[in-house]
Amino acid sequence: MKLEDIKLTNPYLNMPSLCYDRVKPSPLNHPFLIHANIDLAKELNIDESELESSEFVKLINGSYSPSGSDPFASCYAGHQFGYFVERLGDGRAINIGTLDGYHLQLKGAGPTLYSRSGDGRAVLRSSIREYLMSETMHGLSIPTTRALGLIGSRQDVYREDWEKGAVVLRVSPSWIRFGTLEYFAHNKRPDELTAVVDYAINESYPYLNDEQNKYQKLFEIVTEKTAKLIAAWQSVGFNHGVMNTDNMSIAGLTIDYGPYAFLDDYDAGYICNHTDSHGRYSFGNQPHIGEWNLAALAYALAPLNDIETMRNSLTRYNQIFKNEYTRLMNKKLGLDSTLKGDDELISHLLRAIQGLSVDYTLLFRTLSRYDCNREEVLKLCLYHTPMNDWLDIYDERLTNNKTTQSQRHTEMLVVNPKYVLKNYMLQEAIDAANNGDFSIVEALFQIVQNPFDEHIEHDRWAGATPEIFKNKKLSCSS
Ligand code: AMP
Ligand code: MG
Repeated sequence: MKLEDIKLTNPYLNMPSLCYDRVKPSPLNHPFLIHANIDLAKELNIDESELESSEFVKLINGSYSPSGSDPFASCYAGHQFGYFVERLGDGRAINIGTLDGYHLQLKGAGPTLYSRSGDGRAVLRSSIREYLMSETMHGLSIPTTRALGLIGSRQDVYREDWEKGAVVLRVSPSWIRFGTLEYFAHNKRPDELTAVVDYAINESYPYLNDEQNKYQKLFEIVTEKTAKLIAAWQSVGFNHGVMNTDNMSIAGLTIDYGPYAFLDDYDAGYICNHTDSHGRYSFGNQPHIGEWNLAALAYALAPLNDIETMRNSLTRYNQIFKNEYTRLMNKKLGLDSTLKGDDELISHLLRAIQGLSVDYTLLFRTLSRYDCNREEVLKLCLYHTPMNDWLDIYDERLTNNKTTQSQRHTEMLVVNPKYVLKNYMLQEAIDAANNGDFSIVEALFQIVQNPFDEHIEHDRWAGATPEIFKNKKLSCSS
């Protein structure tokens, strides 16, 4: 399909007017294409050749309006660091319409009614981070929003210093956040709350329309999706960094990539977000915060649901999380079944590696070739006793496997990535991009789309993070 043949719809505009505000994007000066996501374009049925056209840049910059587009920003609230903020909303994201069930959104396209004191812009640095990281999650098969393209510009945007403005064309089957429901519940607008909940059901869980207690079931399924999403984050060592309820997706997707990080050396207490002084959103606290956020969602759904029934659903969260986490970690450990005691095998490993200065990703990749000769594994660890103790148990546990060693290796190599998108790699891409060189963005994009492949030419990114870049914190400013 050519861009001129795209016909967008705007299902969200059928919602009550309080839910959104129509707004035109404010294009950036001198926009230019940095990257286009060919795979996603294919999925959306957009011709690859269109991605090189000047219209594609204009589409991302908000100066080319596909047929049917009726741009708007949506309204939401949210608990930020545990405190309720009455009104947030798309302060710098403008929705331009829906294509085949995928909602297109321009992040950094200028101010909206919900910008508060912000400028509605996104800088190149944070846009590269969002663009690459959402594709990383997709490459790891973790539910996420994605991005179709990234543009830069010559327009100055002030953060801690002057930077250049950029826009990411984000794509998602849903942009409804826990905070969207919280907004209408808090403002005592039952009609709008019902409308937005019905919308979310139609959008993400249409089969619930046949259920007796569809609102109750919605809470159950969001609980399950959230528990499983966070289990997936924990399994790959992803620290989101800003798990405010406005950054939690009703559809169970990873959304809003800010000061996130993949673990370098394993550290359960790692906090990627520089402003998170108490570690509310630390790596190890993410499962607990998922539950906290679901409690906030339950509160928002209270006008529609029996609170006791929701409380019962929420009590299942920890078990769902644990089962999913054990399932994923067992796969990472190459275990072909789940046996009693596997939970303990995993927690023993995590206890063992805490403080061993061992790179989380590299450890599992190395274990993916483990043949009971311990040398390669022990080489990664600062000292050996805790790992030796754990390997004694692991060796024993492997004897219960029905798969052969070589089958185990094959299976592990497709679940333990060789590469994850670490912050030092991103920083390299950002530094080059700030000098007009986007080759590292391109290289990283190729890697993260297929993170289990060898990509021998990029081997240096598969090792442990260089010492000076390890376990750093990131600023929220973006
Ligand atoms: P975030 O921390 O990126 O999830 O953003 C939290 C809220 O602040 C959301 O409502 C954003 O739309 C808004 N926001 C963040 N940065 C800006 C900005 N530069 N201009 C306007 N609104 C912003
Ligand atoms: Mg956000």
